[in-house]
Amino acid sequence: MSNFVPITVAHGDGIGPEIMAATLHILKEAGANLDIETIDIGEKVYLAGNSSGIEPSAWDSLRRTKVFLKAPITTPQGGGYKSLNVTVRKTLGLYANVRPCVSYHPFVETKHPNMDVVIVRENEEDLYAGIEHRQTQQVYQCLKLISRPGSEKIVRYAFEYARRNNRKKVTCFTKDNIMKFTDGLFHKVFDEIAAEYSDIENEHWIVDIGAAKLADTPEVFDVLVMPNLYGDVLSDVAAQIAGSVGLAGSANIGEHVSMFEAIHGSAPRRAGQNLANPSGLLLGAVMMLVHIGETEVAERVHNAWLRTIEDGIHTYDIYEEGHSKQKVGTREFAEAVAARVGQKPETLKAASYKAVAETSDKPRGGRPRQAAKKDLVGVDVFLDWTKGTANDLGDSLGKLNGDGIKLEMMSNRGVKVWPGGHAETFCSDHWRCRFLAATDGSDVSHPQIISLLKRIADAGFDFIKTENLYNFDGERGYSLDQGA
Ligand code: NAD
Repeated sequence: MSNFVPITVAHGDGIGPEIMAATLHILKEAGANLDIETIDIGEKVYLAGNSSGIEPSAWDSLRRTKVFLKAPITTPQGGGYKSLNVTVRKTLGLYANVRPCVSYHPFVETKHPNMDVVIVRENEEDLYAGIEHRQTQQVYQCLKLISRPGSEKIVRYAFEYARRNNRKKVTCFTKDNIMKFTDGLFHKVFDEIAAEYSDIENEHWIVDIGAAKLADTPEVFDVLVMPNLYGDVLSDVAAQIAGSVGLAGSANIGEHVSMFEAIHGSAPRRAGQNLANPSGLLLGAVMMLVHIGETEVAERVHNAWLRTIEDGIHTYDIYEEGHSKQKVGTREFAEAVAARVGQKPETLKAASYKAVAETSDKPRGGRPRQAAKKDLVGVDVFLDWTKGTANDLGDSLGKLNGDGIKLEMMSNRGVKVWPGGHAETFCSDHWRCRFLAATDGSDVSHPQIISLLKRIADAGFDFIKTENLYNFDGERGYSLDQGA
């Protein structure tokens, strides 16, 4: 079995077992050399009392094979069950979510006949760290974290993906006109890495107009890379407007393990009736074959599938008079694809995958960077306070100046309200009070901040959090305020 590549397979719930059987049948007929380890995940594991839906022994298989082909699962109704997808993604560090969104005009109904985009979504950072707090009666926060290594990894992955797949352009979406530090870093890293790929065109769009353009004229895009939240939203939009949500596969790439699946769920009402379309999982499996270096088999499977779609042999979900010729069940569809192994599509663009080393998906580490000089220059103290106006609070806090620190300004929900605020500005119970060194340009120390907090607490204020203000190599490491 030495030439066989070990993979871990989970048959899942609902339509999962049927579409997995169909997929594995096609892979076998196409000559894939796979050594399959099967694990149990999903409903029965949850109901057996395992709140994450995966058994401890399954992790051993995933660590051993490093490749996971996963059918959809059913998350039982009711509280207490953790999302298996999130558990696997976070535990195994699956940092890149890759979702090709392609239209198959004129064989499958679509609004965008020439759409062929790949969304590369950062999968670990951004607002998904799950660090949320209720801070006051009125205000809740969620921390958005973007790191340089995380951004470098995903952006480099997008360019490497483009190069491997003969793609011509990588487009980045961010909102760095508003989030200058977090999205600003992502954009900056994109520009830096883009400069290393002179053979690939690059561009950046602000996500709002970019998203509008993607929905309107997706054919102008090729590979798209973006932070987690925008990628989450826009990969669904893109799959939907391609007209083929049931046909899309996806890859979750990690440094150690990668997972491949369909984007749809377990469709329990369709289960056990030989109805489900196995195409999404099959196209996920094609991405897996490319990942493990079985590019010839990937090409054979993909082209046989395209030919089947072209020949109008369709499952119920995409069957339509005019576009389709024969309505088939899951098993018959799989037989039709298997029978076309070796054929290519005549109208649709044939798939072609470059033979590349297995390791090519591995991210290269960022260039070693010299640590910036970090100077503590002040502190934002956040207060829960409802006893008056901004001027009242400014007057009270001003009395606590001393020990080399003074109140510089205050904002409420990001709008500067002191000094010189406007009477019209609505103020919640959540106040950000910025203290800087009393002498311009001086540093402050942790003991100075601790003694300031003691004065604030002794004066009867409820400080709900503090955020230290740093300069890095003399460059401000914190945002100013609207109105500042
Ligand atoms: P779903 O994607 O399972 O199904 C929505 C509808 O789409 C189905 O009723 C069916 O009509 C159609 N459909 C989906 N896949 C199809 C296919 N391959 N062939 C033909 N028709 C198909 O979404 P849902 O009903 O919201 O969720 C059902 C279950 O799946 C839930 O328990 C949910 O938690 C789970 N889910 C799992 C995953 C995953 O494992 N990755 C992803 C999404 C949802």
